[in-house]
Amino acid sequence: MITKCDHPGCTRAGTCRAPKNRNLTEYWHFCTEHAAEYNKNWNYYADMTPDEIEADWERSVFGTPLKDKTKANADEADYVKFLNDFLTGRDTFDRTPPKNKLPTSISGAFKIFGLPPTSTWREVGVKYRALAKKYHPDTAENKTSATAEFTKITTAYNTLKQYFNK
Ligand SMILES: [Zn+2]
Repeated sequence: MITKCDHPGCTRAGTCRAPKNRNLTEYWHFCTEHAAEYNKNWNYYADMTPDEIEADWERSVFGTPLKDKTKANADEADYVKFLNDFLTGRDTFDRTPPKNKLPTSISGAFKIFGLPPTSTWREVGVKYRALAKKYHPDTAENKTSATAEFTKITTAYNTLKQYFNK
């Protein structure tokens, strides 16, 4: 079944998905032309300050903004330690390989992140943050390919989020 473009009055096929909201949980279906127009005008961070943008990323990845000192002192110290260990290869996190063969959707999501299936949730978070910054449509030079990449990594992130029960 072909979905029609969501743009009012447009009768072309809605073959392009475009996020409706910040959480990327709902999508419009547009034709190529209306998708391009929508992406051009859609600014995820239009009404936010740089600090709020940073906090938004941290909240989406770590569940709490790291700069929120009232909530996140312990988290931050823990995070800094984790990051140091991770970057210097001294991490002591559980490396037990999954007992059963992972579903393709899960192993595929790890692959999109360039991470081994033994990676921890935090490693996924750190990688996601780096990739999402790199491919964010608002800051990338090539918005079209960045949007596709951004959608891909966000989908992979949500898949892994479920896998880790987060
Ligand atoms: Zn259209």
